[in-house]
Amino acid sequence: MSNNPHSHSYQARESGYREKALKMYPHICGRCGREFIGKRLRELTVHHRDHNHDNNPEDGSNWELLCLFCHDNEHQRQVDAHYATSDAGKGGAAKTTHKAFADLAKLMGKGE
Ligand SMILES: [Zn+2]
Ligand SMILES: [Zn+2]
Repeated sequence: MSNNPHSHSYQARESGYREKALKMYPHICGRCGREFIGKRLRELTVHHRDHNHDNNPEDGSNWELLCLFCHDNEHQRQVDAHYATSDAGKGGAAKTTHKAFADLAKLMGKGE
């Protein structure tokens, strides 16, 4: 006789975090502070603070409710930071004016 206590699989767990987050938090965007009611609730999305969609702790500590716009911005910031290459300062090899030096030398070498 085999009685299996592990009859339930938790395969629906991953897709259920949005509903959990919506139950847990007020329906307000964490960035712009707009409130989303009724149909507009679809515009409110669950952002993962550490950007790891597999990290879904039950206490919701990795979730943040953001509207589509702010969510986009949040991820855009990451991209911007990644591609921000600040190599200004090269190509400054301007010709040194030899004339100026020559004039200066003349002035300096005045006294015999
Ligand atoms: Zn927002
Ligand atoms: Zn996100």
